[in-house]
Amino acid sequence: MNRKNLFGLTLAELEAELAPLPKFRAKQIAAQIYKHGVKTFDDMNDLPKNLRAELKTRYEIKIADLLKRLDSRDGLTTKFLLGLADGAAVEVVLMRHDYGNGVCISSQVGCQMGCKFCASTLKGLERNLTAAEMLGEIFFAEEFLRGEGGKLDSVVVMGTGEPLMNFDALIKMLRLLHEDYCLGMSYRKVTISTCGVVPAIKKLRDEKIPVTLSISLHAPDDRLRSALMPINSAFGLKSLLNAGNDYAQVTGRRVTYEYILLGGVNDTEEHARRLAKILSGQLANVNLIPFNPVDERSFAPPTNAAVKKFFHFLNTHGIGATVRKEMGSDVNAACGQLRAKVLSR
Ligand code: SAH
Repeated sequence: MNRKNLFGLTLAELEAELAPLPKFRAKQIAAQIYKHGVKTFDDMNDLPKNLRAELKTRYEIKIADLLKRLDSRDGLTTKFLLGLADGAAVEVVLMRHDYGNGVCISSQVGCQMGCKFCASTLKGLERNLTAAEMLGEIFFAEEFLRGEGGKLDSVVVMGTGEPLMNFDALIKMLRLLHEDYCLGMSYRKVTISTCGVVPAIKKLRDEKIPVTLSISLHAPDDRLRSALMPINSAFGLKSLLNAGNDYAQVTGRRVTYEYILLGGVNDTEEHARRLAKILSGQLANVNLIPFNPVDERSFAPPTNAAVKKFFHFLNTHGIGATVRKEMGSDVNAACGQLRAKVLSR
């Protein structure tokens, strides 16, 4: 018989599912699942034995199966390929920074957005992840870190998929993650990265959960941006920058603009000048990402000199910029590369 998975249910959902059991039982079980990481009812030693036996016949507590693990040579990045109940696979990347440990999770299996430089979108969208599956990615990383004596400090939804195209599940997961009976994670420790789904950015603003918004910009004008990112033909730069500015004003959270540097495509001083111009006056900073080569994509990384120049230009023209430290390129840490490789075998 198929047992129902309790992992990923909210307290209210657990109460409803377990009725007519008294509500305090749902509370105990939520604490066992989310606070103590218990995976079998036998280990829930604050429940009576006969109840444990009964629950066992109807339910399970399951996150995901580890299909593959890769560690970067410097030991700072660990990438997991997780297998889900229906056989789909998602990538989770653990990053040990000097300022804390972060996990980068996927929001969809595959992606439909079609960005020209990205490996995740090569085979299109397979399906959305559920809130439980996204929370499972975070718990997998959290439990792994705990196993090595560490803890999880932050979450970025920047792996495979477009989180704002899986809006309802994303919001459900974020609210659950924030609950005291779950990880109690502060919204400030969570970053959502989007390619620019403008109406969904407005919806996110209205949810009143002050997560950090990261916008993948990658070009300072509509012509180039539309050539690199199909979403720009639906929602152009002007409306995107307005939505970003508005998000920053309403939430008080500085927006990060991601800018991949593609050698010879968008990395000249003229591009930096135009970028500084369109971002001037915004509560924003820029994260420059040297392109991580993808076998199937023909772009080239920028030269070191181009990165330095671009960075310097922004910082001397009123735009706070950082260069993303390259982490784990030896474990295919760029979106979708590990999954693409394993699946194509
Ligand atoms: N769909 C969301 C989140 C997933 S992509 C978004 O677009 O933001 C996460 C980030 O990785 C984006 O900024 C994306 O543009 C970038 N990225 C994708 N492929 C890359 C590559 N080959 N090298 C460097 N960055 C890449």
